[in-house]
Amino acid sequence: MPELPEVETIKNELLPHIVGRQVTGVTLFWEGIVRQPSVKEFYSRLIGQRLTGLTRRGKYLIFSLSSGEVLIIHLKMTGSLLIGQDSSEPPKYTRAMIHLDKDINIFFRDPRKFGVMWLVEDASVVVGKLGPEPLEAGFTSQVLAQRLANRTAPIKALLSDQTFIAGIGNMYADEALFAARIHPLRPGGSLSPEEMEHLHQAIQQVLWSAIGNKGASVDTYFRPDGTLGTAHFQFQVAHRLGGKLCPACGTPIERIPIRNRGSYFCPKCQASTKGDSP
Ligand SMILES: [Zn+2]
Repeated sequence: MPELPEVETIKNELLPHIVGRQVTGVTLFWEGIVRQPSVKEFYSRLIGQRLTGLTRRGKYLIFSLSSGEVLIIHLKMTGSLLIGQDSSEPPKYTRAMIHLDKDINIFFRDPRKFGVMWLVEDASVVVGKLGPEPLEAGFTSQVLAQRLANRTAPIKALLSDQTFIAGIGNMYADEALFAARIHPLRPGGSLSPEEMEHLHQAIQQVLWSAIGNKGASVDTYFRPDGTLGTAHFQFQVAHRLGGKLCPACGTPIERIPIRNRGSYFCPKCQASTKGDSP
């Protein structure tokens, strides 16, 4: 699933192609991709508008429109947005096309069909409940500490909870916890001040590094030009299946289910006992 670095890359790379462009048409091959409003209204309210900006909040892409409304896209498990010429053949699994002037087209490709679009007046209807942005200046280690205080849920589950912190999913939660040497099952509130400081640093470092590598193409993620990201080549534990060894100590990486998601960690570097006592 695309996480913050993948969605940030898509935003950065789509932006120069689409800002100032006018929506000349919309084609939906899968109408279920529009969550709100009705499909009929989606066509009539989107066509003719100019795209005035593109931002990211968590894993959501927010396109500003000349009417003041916003088009919000969530890529979910397998979505990607590809930029191309309007005259070109849509790639396989294209579920929607947003046609722009100057022969530009945004292809919403999504093999599993979980991706969603909303056209709303106020973005907060969709993104209002998200937790803080981990790369913004306001997200300090104190903010992380306050949010972790007294939390009994596993730290891995908290990091991938979008209302706790926005944009982090399975891959980058595993990478940040390994970088901070914290076991994924540790209760959030059990972290020492030093561990919280390390975790805060690790979160920002793994996310910035992955953005620098244009995201991780472990499954179906593509950059808007159709090329792959390379962030997964830097992964220390995430998605390292089949008896891969910890790059720090050589112990085989383990995978355990936490809230139905496979969590990868090093049982030696991320020992579970540390900090567990009251
Ligand atoms: Zn290790």
